[in-house]
Amino acid sequence: MTVNRELFDEVMVPNYAPSAVIPVRGEGSHVWDQADNEYIDFAGGIAVNCLGHCHPALVNALKVQSEKLWHVANVMANEPAIRLAKKLVDATFADKVYFANSGAEANEAALKLARRFALDNYGEHKSQIIAFNQGFHGRTFFTVTVGGQAAYSDGFGPKPGNIDHCNYNDLAAFEALISDNTCAVMLEPLQGEGGIISPTVEFIQGVRALCDKHNALLIFDEVQTGVGRTGHLYAYQGLAVTPDILTTAKALGGGFPIGAMLTTTDIAKHLKVGTHGSTYGGNPLACAVAEAAFDTVNTPEVLNGVKEKEALFRQLFTQINDKYHVFKEMRGEGLLLGAVVAEQYQGKARDFMLASIDNGLMALVAGVNVVRFAPSLVIPEADIREGMARFEKAVAQVVNAQ
Ligand SMILES: *Cc1c(COP(=O)(O)O)cnc(C)c1O
Repeated sequence: MTVNRELFDEVMVPNYAPSAVIPVRGEGSHVWDQADNEYIDFAGGIAVNCLGHCHPALVNALKVQSEKLWHVANVMANEPAIRLAKKLVDATFADKVYFANSGAEANEAALKLARRFALDNYGEHKSQIIAFNQGFHGRTFFTVTVGGQAAYSDGFGPKPGNIDHCNYNDLAAFEALISDNTCAVMLEPLQGEGGIISPTVEFIQGVRALCDKHNALLIFDEVQTGVGRTGHLYAYQGLAVTPDILTTAKALGGGFPIGAMLTTTDIAKHLKVGTHGSTYGGNPLACAVAEAAFDTVNTPEVLNGVKEKEALFRQLFTQINDKYHVFKEMRGEGLLLGAVVAEQYQGKARDFMLASIDNGLMALVAGVNVVRFAPSLVIPEADIREGMARFEKAVAQVVNAQ
């Protein structure tokens, strides 16, 4: 069978528009396509491959578990899930863990739990959910409606109700919206898909205080920022603000699908037996790989290394931009970085991403004005330098095409 991009168009639902390149293998921060062209990976499968491709610890965990037990559904517990939950609890504010298979599912669980918690404790009037414009929380109907981009949630008929939005980092607008009818507030402690936007300290602390005042649960969606991405195990740990519920996915499995919702005992108790569930959630294979990823990432060497690598990215980025002046700034934290295009390149972040592929570099966009990098947390210095050299060629290519 000839497997190529044409066959993709023939047999796949047309909701994605992938590039012409089809990757077939990877090692560390290098990827090869069908024609054996080599790429440096600054995309990390959208902040998923936190340890690059085929990291030996993850390969080993997958191999070992694959010869023991693949799946037992939640009518029985399993060892990898219990071990991973214990490690997540020990390393965070949380006491309890619920496993899912994706970010959207972890958020779906968080939102359902928040609604149930408010209903049990306060009654039906307390159902409002507040979230933020440009936020992204997944593509189930509940999570996409909580997400702050109508373009993603419109066109599917009536939406789940009582969900309101205001601007991120606008504490006054948020204060005007929240009340004793607010059940929960969901936000990313650094907006990823929305354009790599960090919260101000005043905003994030103000949101926490107002949630406390109105007995609303604060949910941090750390699907993209979690598992070392910002140089902290979870971003909240660098913000001096603790959420009531936290969701994590993407990097949690280092490339194996898994998500989780973390919370306190007092909140968790409202998800009684039978109230929620998932066939695959807590699957032994997924949890075994995630445990190996967690053990590898949650070390001072890896987490401190993220900050050092960030500094190198910023230095090399500045050198390129001093020469070409195509970007306004580099935003973000740790290895979740966004280069914001200058005025004359408005709407053209994708051009830089496509030119990067031409020059052997995998990068991402975050909206139409930001080129995003989310590489492996253990990417070697030489690969950062080589990748940025390729990025410079991509920038030159876009500039010359103007
Ligand atoms: C990617 C992402 C999600 C959705 O995760 P899926 O695994 O695609 O369902 C949710 N929230 C944030 C912040 C994300 O970046």
